[in-house]
Amino acid sequence: MLGLLSKEVITREPTVAVVDPFICTGCWNCVNVCPFGAPEKSEITMTIDRQKVTRPVSKINEAKCEGCGLCVATCPGNCIDQRGFSDDQVFAEIGGYLERVRAARNGG
Ligand code: SF4
Ligand code: SF4
Repeated sequence: MLGLLSKEVITREPTVAVVDPFICTGCWNCVNVCPFGAPEKSEITMTIDRQKVTRPVSKINEAKCEGCGLCVATCPGNCIDQRGFSDDQVFAEIGGYLERVRAARNGG
């Protein structure tokens, strides 16, 4: 850990989650489900019909994201991508994880 902190630049895994702010509805499912507190409540201001509109959107703190994929699976609007993974790959990862949990609970 000390070795990591002494580095000037810390390189993160490239599988962090990214929100598309143009389709995020600000439901906060991702904020509530993330075990690492990476999605943060934020806002975006855009111009629609020459009117400035500000609305809530989620923003992922990349320094906190561990790339687990839970937010991708729970976003109702499919607004989150995980860099380096397609949606199918994310769901396959989660499915595999759930299988391992089930097997462990059943003693195997
Ligand atoms: S991928 Fe996992 S760690 Fe990253 S923001 Fe989503 S739920 Fe949190
Ligand atoms: S779950 Fe999806 S729609 Fe809801 S706040 Fe997060 S990114 Fe936006």
